[in-house]
Amino acid sequence: KHVAELIAAGEVVERPASVIKELVENSIDAGAAIVTVEIKAGGVSYMRITDNGCGMAREDVPVAFLRHATSKVHKQDDLEQIGTLGFRGEALASVASVSHVEVLTCEPGAVEGTHYIISGGEEEYCGPAGCAAGTTMMIRDLFYNTPARMKFLKKDVTEANAVAAVMDKLALSHPEVSIRFIREGKEALHTPGDGSLKSAIYTVFGKEFTAGLIPVDYSYQGIRAHGFVSKPAAARPNRSMQHFFINGRYIKSRTAMVALEEAFKGTLMVGKLPACVLHLDIAAGAVDVNVHPAKLEVRFVNEKPIFDCVYYGVKTALQKGDT
Ligand code: ADP
Ligand code: MG
Repeated sequence: KHVAELIAAGEVVERPASVIKELVENSIDAGAAIVTVEIKAGGVSYMRITDNGCGMAREDVPVAFLRHATSKVHKQDDLEQIGTLGFRGEALASVASVSHVEVLTCEPGAVEGTHYIISGGEEEYCGPAGCAAGTTMMIRDLFYNTPARMKFLKKDVTEANAVAAVMDKLALSHPEVSIRFIREGKEALHTPGDGSLKSAIYTVFGKEFTAGLIPVDYSYQGIRAHGFVSKPAAARPNRSMQHFFINGRYIKSRTAMVALEEAFKGTLMVGKLPACVLHLDIAAGAVDVNVHPAKLEVRFVNEKPIFDCVYYGVKTALQKGDT
């Protein structure tokens, strides 16, 4: 019966880290200022995401778990102007089809909230609950009904590391949200959520990395590049510390990477590569974000302005950093 459903789920839900990414993005879309994530056994046995966002009305909760149910795209036009992180309405349906999900949700100011339980895609309970404003999602036993998928999961510590990497990226992409990560009972990350990218970087990567940064803020052809690049002396042996974000979304972009490295040309020792945490803000509509949910590589309608903005932005920052 559920074969098509389970195949579709596999597109969005690959491992605990992909569930966490989708659910935290939902919390951010819900306007949350604070998001707390807790995992046990790498997230496979237990994941909990708590936010203080807009919550859901009782009648909207079952609907949210239907495939292609999204409250974020209302008309054809919206698809070209996506401002939210989610828009496909697939995440909750997919997660619920391959795990046991329990939801507590309450709209701010509502007299009571909602308790909802859905297992393997089947609703088990929907009723009232006393709870704080916002939403808590608990996911238990991921892939309990898809042993083939379960087999592809790695050791708990590897899955937990993948979740941690996603948490880092979410923290860096949304410094205005306080992000807290509790990994196997221990707090592993807690960003202030004060809106400062620098304090998010400090929390995620520590003092030494933060001390070796030069600020970038450059606007060009409707694109703004802002964030930080490493001082040439603080260059790295590989690209693992190159982080690019577009409109609050972590991405991989060959164009941005090449532009960054071109701008550093002549300043680095052989074998060294620049590090960066760079946000690109682009008018919605100029970027095609309608890519496969699991793919991070973004292609632009027109790559040239992206290249130019990153290249000149970084060049300018390096020249200033010199004097
Ligand atoms: P999408 O994010 O693409 O809309 P999802 O399946 O991730 O699809 O979520 C479905 C819907 O459930 C969302 O459009 C939103 O209305 C609601 N929702 C999900 N998570 C939350 C949350 N944490 N707070 C408030 N509403 C939520
Ligand atoms: Mg979503």
